[in-house]
Amino acid sequence: MDFPFYDAPNTATIICCHIIDDGKPILYVSHDEDDGMWQFLCGSTHDTDEARLVSLKEAFDLDNSVGVLKDMPCGYYAERKTQDDNWLVKKR
Ligand SMILES: [Zn+2]
Repeated sequence: MDFPFYDAPNTATIICCHIIDDGKPILYVSHDEDDGMWQFLCGSTHDTDEARLVSLKEAFDLDNSVGVLKDMPCGYYAERKTQDDNWLVKKR
C-alpha cells in the first residue's frame, strides 16, 4: 500500500507506549492545531512519559487504516471504539 499522507514519511509523530510497546490498536488520532503534529494513541489517558516519537511512516506501517485520515485538517481528531470501527472525525 502506498504511503498516503501529504506529510513526508519521516515526519516526527507522537505515538503512545501502549501501541508501540504493548501492541494495542490505534483508536485515537489527533492532528494538532498549533504545530500540525500527528498523534496516534490507544484511547486511554496518558502521562507525558508515555509518549514516544516515531516517523509517520512507522505509525502508518503499524496500522494502514490510519491512512484514510490523511485529509483530516489540523485542529481535528478522530476516534473509534475498536480497530474494526470506522473513524469518527470531530473538530476540537
Ligand atoms: Zn496509550
